[in-house]
Amino acid sequence: MGAPLYRDTGVVLRTYKLGEADRIVVVLTQHHGKIRAVAKGVRKTMSKFGARLEPLSHVQLLLYQGRELDIISQAESVGSLAPLVGDLDHLTNGLAIVEAVDQMTPDREPVGHLYRMLVGALRTVAERSGPLVVPAFYWKLLAAEGVRPELDECVRCGVAEGLVAIDVVEGGVLCRSCRTGVPVSAEALEVMRMILGGRLNEALDLPASRVTHEVTAHATRALEHHLERCLRTVAMFETG
Ligand SMILES: [Zn+2]
Repeated sequence: MGAPLYRDTGVVLRTYKLGEADRIVVVLTQHHGKIRAVAKGVRKTMSKFGARLEPLSHVQLLLYQGRELDIISQAESVGSLAPLVGDLDHLTNGLAIVEAVDQMTPDREPVGHLYRMLVGALRTVAERSGPLVVPAFYWKLLAAEGVRPELDECVRCGVAEGLVAIDVVEGGVLCRSCRTGVPVSAEALEVMRMILGGRLNEALDLPASRVTHEVTAHATRALEHHLERCLRTVAMFETG
């Protein structure tokens, strides 16, 4: 009985070495979630896969299903996210985005919405640089995971004025009397509202400044907090 074959389209998140010539490729697929598959002979110069299985590659795959690792039989490029690789800024942004998605996604659990977000984000990355491309994606990703930060009123007392702090543990902004977490400037708060409130392009057009720097720091902190919480939950289930 041969292993079942299946087809899917996906984005390569990361690869690592397996033995002398092979590579394990971690792919977020459209229909099968995140999979790990072996690309045999990929590290030989004459590999039939060529450069199609590098991180950020968008590929159509034919795979043999295995117990833990699938095996890639064919890989064809889909369209092109190629501009990404030609420019260091774009490449760095693209890699930050696939890393966040990789960390946030469990294996073999269909996450069609994340796949679509990822492809959309990589198109954005290919077309534009700018300081907020990656942090904006982090905020969108968190919102898609159900942890959209409260930005309009104090998470403790509900006042809408004088919001001066943001706390990732509390899940949003706080007023002067309730403040915990770290300070947030009114300008940074406004930019975060742009990103999460349907004015993404406006935010992406902003040049680098103290404010974009601050928004980046808040986004990174929020993402890290969420990932740590996910990891703790996993550990709890595994030991429990
Ligand atoms: Zn308050």
